[in-house]
Amino acid sequence: MGRVALVTGGTRGIGQAISVALQAADRTVIASYFGNEEAALAFSEATGIHVLRFDAADFDACAAAVAEIEDRFGPIGVLVNNAGITRDATVAKMSRDMWDAVMDTNLGSCFNLCKLTFEAMRHANFGRIVNIGSVNGQAGQYGQVNYSAAKSGIHGLTRALALEGAKFGITVNAIAPGYVDTDMVRAVPSEVLAKIVARIPVGRLGYASDIARGVSFLTADDAEFVTGTTLSINGGQHMY
Ligand code: NDP
Repeated sequence: MGRVALVTGGTRGIGQAISVALQAADRTVIASYFGNEEAALAFSEATGIHVLRFDAADFDACAAAVAEIEDRFGPIGVLVNNAGITRDATVAKMSRDMWDAVMDTNLGSCFNLCKLTFEAMRHANFGRIVNIGSVNGQAGQYGQVNYSAAKSGIHGLTRALALEGAKFGITVNAIAPGYVDTDMVRAVPSEVLAKIVARIPVGRLGYASDIARGVSFLTADDAEFVTGTTLSINGGQHMY
């Protein structure tokens, strides 16, 4: 049995491609989900990947999930913090709840699961953490004060935690995807999406597999000298 890998939001969209790529790299993958049980069960059935329902924004739920995974499969060696949501509005129309939901799900979940898995990684003298940020956390995006702040926070958390992990064989990196063809992006109005694609030099939206390829690289056993970095995978849309 390969090292245990937890992918949050690992049953749909980008996370689904990441789960499949890590399975192909001989990891024992646990893909988490929260709302869409039908998609999660269909994914598990099709791939044989274990799925687990918990709210990544809730610290106690994460603690219970990590304990269950350790009990059933062993300590987590690879963590991909991929779960994310958007609640878009201009700041004038953004409620405090929209701010909190996005901060808790995108950034709070990274804190929860990094904290809850770090000691076991230290003990094993091995860990690979990848946090999924966003081009919008690098460049900013109209109507996304909450999301841009949360994703920017992920990039800062990544650099700080990389310093803490470096002596213990734990690498901590982020990926900043550009626009990727998933449900999240399909929710963007088509006229807005057309303008976005026109600004991508490669001339298309990203595929989920484009992002998974980066995760495979950053989580490889022999990637121990790559830490504290943010890998942009955006078709040349934003060079940072
Ligand atoms: P999707 O909306 O397609 O999937 C989101 C995933 O996150 C789902 O599996 C969902 O679970 C899970 N999730 C949401 N909230 C929670 C929660 N509270 N606890 C646990 N899981 C949760 O998103 P994408 O695949 O498009 O995005 C994946 C990541 O990539 C996100 O962090 C996103 O911000 C980031 N990203 C995406 C870009 C894009 O263009 N698509 C661009 C840049 C970054 P469930 O299936 O149960 O609903």
